[in-house]
Amino acid sequence: MMTDAFIGLGSNLEDPAAQLARAVTALATLPNTVFVAQSPFYASRPVGPQDQPDFVNGAVWLRTSLTPHALLDHLQSIEHRHGRERLRHWGPRTLDLDLLIFGDQTIADDRLTMPHKELPNRDFALQPLLDLNPDLTLPDGRPIKALREHCPDNHLRKLPPANRDPFSPT
Ligand code: ADP
Ligand code: MG
Repeated sequence: MMTDAFIGLGSNLEDPAAQLARAVTALATLPNTVFVAQSPFYASRPVGPQDQPDFVNGAVWLRTSLTPHALLDHLQSIEHRHGRERLRHWGPRTLDLDLLIFGDQTIADDRLTMPHKELPNRDFALQPLLDLNPDLTLPDGRPIKALREHCPDNHLRKLPPANRDPFSPT
């Protein structure tokens, strides 16, 4: 069975847009997984500590027969290949890959909270999801569109397409 999975991408170190473009390529070639679409990329102000560069954020829509935990394993291995180190909570990072939504599944264990627990508070995750699918809802029925209207403002700026290759349509 294939499940629709939505991945949030973020980076604010070492050419963030290029980090995201490479991550999109890695996500598009995961086993047992079909790439559906990628969102535009956005610049956003950091959440938490402000003494760090702005982030670049985006989202990818996949269809997969992997389990959510197997998909998380892949996300973490892609993060590690990008040289990610956990320096401080909500601090700068070369690549952050979050599993935002996995079908209609709700999960709460020590590795995975699904949907991602911060999703309703993050315009830089909600807006790319809306770009991918304006009708998307959480498993509890809340529309992403309504969450986006009520979440805090991180000063999103859509980036030009040159910064979000290789999979965007020309
Ligand atoms: P954040 O993304 O909130 O800045 P981290 O990426 O450092 O924080 O957090 C990674 C941890 O979050 C991992 O150990 C992972 O097991 C856990 N986690 C829980 N739910 C999720 C999810 N939906 N997507 C990604 N990681 C998750
Ligand atoms: Mg993360």
